[in-house]
Amino acid sequence: MKVCLIYPGIVGKGFDSIGQGMDSGWISHGLAILSACAKKAGHNVSLIDLRAMKGWEHFERELAARAPDAVAVTIMSADYNPAMRCLELAKQVNPQVVTMVGGAHATIMPHELADNPIIDHIIIGEGENVFPEALDKLARGEAVEQIITGDHPDLDAIPYADHNLFIDEWRAQGYAVTSPEAPFVQELPPPFVTMIAGRGCMYNCSYCQPAERHIFGRKVRRRSVANVIGELEMLRDQFNFASMMFHDDCLTEDREWVIEFCQAYRAAGFTQPFFCQSRADIIVKNDDMVALMAKVGLRGYFIGFESGSDRVLRFIRKGTKRAQNLAAARICKKYGIAIWANYMLGLPTETKEEVLETISMLKEIDPDYYSPAFYTPHPGSDLYDYCMENDLSLITDHDSFRRNPDEAKIKGVDYEWLNWALGESQVRTPTNRLKRATRRIWRRYAQPKKIIRKLRRMILPERNPA
Ligand code: SF4
Repeated sequence: MKVCLIYPGIVGKGFDSIGQGMDSGWISHGLAILSACAKKAGHNVSLIDLRAMKGWEHFERELAARAPDAVAVTIMSADYNPAMRCLELAKQVNPQVVTMVGGAHATIMPHELADNPIIDHIIIGEGENVFPEALDKLARGEAVEQIITGDHPDLDAIPYADHNLFIDEWRAQGYAVTSPEAPFVQELPPPFVTMIAGRGCMYNCSYCQPAERHIFGRKVRRRSVANVIGELEMLRDQFNFASMMFHDDCLTEDREWVIEFCQAYRAAGFTQPFFCQSRADIIVKNDDMVALMAKVGLRGYFIGFESGSDRVLRFIRKGTKRAQNLAAARICKKYGIAIWANYMLGLPTETKEEVLETISMLKEIDPDYYSPAFYTPHPGSDLYDYCMENDLSLITDHDSFRRNPDEAKIKGVDYEWLNWALGESQVRTPTNRLKRATRRIWRRYAQPKKIIRKLRRMILPERNPA
């Protein structure tokens, strides 16, 4: 069966944007793994990444040239509009083509898609087993149900993600890709790759759950350390990567796994720096684990601090406290780990005083990277339901499900003031600026090796070049 996977993620940077930062420089692991599974089952797989297209005419031409028997589109809520356009055009180019959708939005909002005549099949949940099975049936001319319910596969039993699916496609479209994925911070040099080591999350944040559990099940599943190291060895052979990042929602929640991984990473000869997600409470309770991670290459944590107000943190069921956020930041600094601070402004019930608490917390944390969001209600989460029940959402179009702070999302929030707060949250205090400048100078000029070299030059006579 000839199947064309479609990645519709142009809401951020638009068409023709490959390499322009995180939104347009990373692969979709969901599609990359489905590609590997479908190829393993003997199907002919190609990819159209809308981010690599010049526009809709280009997409139509590509689709016509590839003439697939089936197209499969992954949909996040923010990708709904371009995904629907892809499906419409696919049916226009070839009315006989079989159309399939999957991904987070399809799993959480299947009723929004079920009556749409341009969609033949909806895959709910994880598709690694059911997607190739459906392709097999279609190839044999057998009937396939409209709603295909996925299972929760053994993550060690499925193939490694097909990283080359994206990289080869970007190159075929004329992008001179030198790094498999786009690095985004100075700590992670190219060639840069990303990984996923597990699925699910044991926490219960109201702006996220139960959507996460709905997709991945109640139990967190993690690949074995050997399996993850195997994929990293493959990536080292293929790309000789210089840095990497884990996408996992919370890699550090399983302390035993992390310690085993750190030991195996070092034993396999990896020294490449990496970033991963963590939580303030985990960092505070596992100082020794953080130290070990830093020793083997951890250079940065993405941390969902979210708010500096304990009342708001309780309201969103974060399971952390302001004091833990501050303590976690101190531990990161102790081990030289960069802090990527995720936080939200404009949450329902949040007062201006509570936003100011978030700002004062950030001044104290002094993160290396600020990643603010205007709270955006996401379908499938309890906080989304709260917003619907209380008629709070201002979102009228799927494009607005992006978390970026550039539009009003919640009724009653003073966005003019919040824009000021957004700017102010990212202004460093003079003391923090001075500390950072001192650290920079120290790193640049006061490394022991450099000092020894300088001393040697001062003490020892110049060698005669002749
Ligand atoms: S926001 Fe993060 S920590 Fe909270 S439930 Fe979702 S994935 Fe887990």
